[in-house]
Amino acid sequence: MTANLLLIGGGHAHVTALRWLQKHPCPDVSITLINPRAYAVYSGMVPGFVAGHFSRSEVEIDLGRLCTDSGADIIHDFIIDLDPIRKRAMGQSGKTYSYDLSSIDVGIVSAPLSMCDSKMDLTVKPMSPFVEAWAQVSENLSGGVAIVGGGLGGVELAFAVRHKMRSSGLPDRVPVSLVDQSTILSASSPSLRRTLRQRLNAASVDILEDTEVRGHHDGQLELASGRSLTAQLILWTVGGRAHDWLAESGLKARNGFPVVTASLQSISHPDIFIAGDAASLPDMRVPKAGVYAVRQGPILMQNMIAKSQGAPLQDFTPQKDYLKLVSLGKRAAIAEKSGLTVQLPGLWGLKTWIDRCFVQD
Ligand SMILES: Cc1cc2nc3c(=O)[nH]c(=O)nc-3n(C[C@H](O)[C@H](O)[C@H](O)COP(=O)(O)OP(=O)(O)OC[C@H]3O[C@@H](n4cnc5c(N)ncnc54)[C@H](O)[C@@H]3O)c2cc1C
Repeated sequence: MTANLLLIGGGHAHVTALRWLQKHPCPDVSITLINPRAYAVYSGMVPGFVAGHFSRSEVEIDLGRLCTDSGADIIHDFIIDLDPIRKRAMGQSGKTYSYDLSSIDVGIVSAPLSMCDSKMDLTVKPMSPFVEAWAQVSENLSGGVAIVGGGLGGVELAFAVRHKMRSSGLPDRVPVSLVDQSTILSASSPSLRRTLRQRLNAASVDILEDTEVRGHHDGQLELASGRSLTAQLILWTVGGRAHDWLAESGLKARNGFPVVTASLQSISHPDIFIAGDAASLPDMRVPKAGVYAVRQGPILMQNMIAKSQGAPLQDFTPQKDYLKLVSLGKRAAIAEKSGLTVQLPGLWGLKTWIDRCFVQD
């Protein structure tokens, strides 16, 4: 009998899962991918898109073609509810999708929603709406930009925004601020942190640490200290919460993110697999990063097929560290691995080549 596999979300893990299937066709399963759009944004190229180096089409993966090539169906819908007991997911379209096995790879949502009620407050995650919105607002950045959240993604965006301003002829006195409620780059190695701080200073990015944001009105970011900051546009990278429908689905979760076993199955509902940023892995030290989602994909697909056949499942073992190639706004990058930071002229070319290979694979 053919097993009905439902993939919810066209995240990085589902992209590599479908690519694995392309090379290893399986006639015993019928696969449907549900994603709101026909394209998925590749996060590694988003800072380059914001800086103006890449067009939107260059940073997007064609999910329709991927599904056709791997023998899967694609449905454009946005899941708003999941019933793990009756084994069905409900879409915004009003349709219901039943499954034998399901996999969820829907990423995270950045920013507290209550603060983001204007079109000048852009949440960076999910990335597809962000990329669409950036194309509209980036023509006029003269009112200043603040990036809230000083992780690696926020830092790359700060460099990218400054580069975009400079190439639009805006002087460095137009503020670009990086705001964090604790310390920026707290999860990065000391050498990367030091190097990036120097670069941020050189790019005239104002760093505000231990700074809590209260609101955003009339081009001013209101801070808990009572001070305010000029910023017409805010890019929110903080928050990092699970989608509400997922947190409320009844799957056993930690901070809203369903907890999975090493085989990427929900610990409470083993017919459901969860991958990428949406999952809470057994090893809580593993950061939410695209590289882990990408590597999970092939194991995820093999495990779903194995489960449908009653065969043993494999474990996903996250690597301890990975090569970080951090873009610096202009066509330049810094590399870091195992605490060692390297700055070389060819790194931007290397990063672009790796990223393009992934998108076009
Ligand atoms: C600026 C920036 C740069 C980054 N650069 C890097 C990098 O260079 N390297 C790295 O390792 N990590 C990077 N990251 C982190 C990286 O973005 C994430 O770890 C990665 O995107 C996680 O992938 P994912 O598979 O969990 O889901 P995502 O890539 O977030 O994709 C989720 C998909 O699910 C879809 N979806 C969402 N909700 C629903 C729903 N309800 N129903 C159906 N579909 C839905 C979305 O449309 C989307 O296609 C960066 C992050 C930022 C903010």
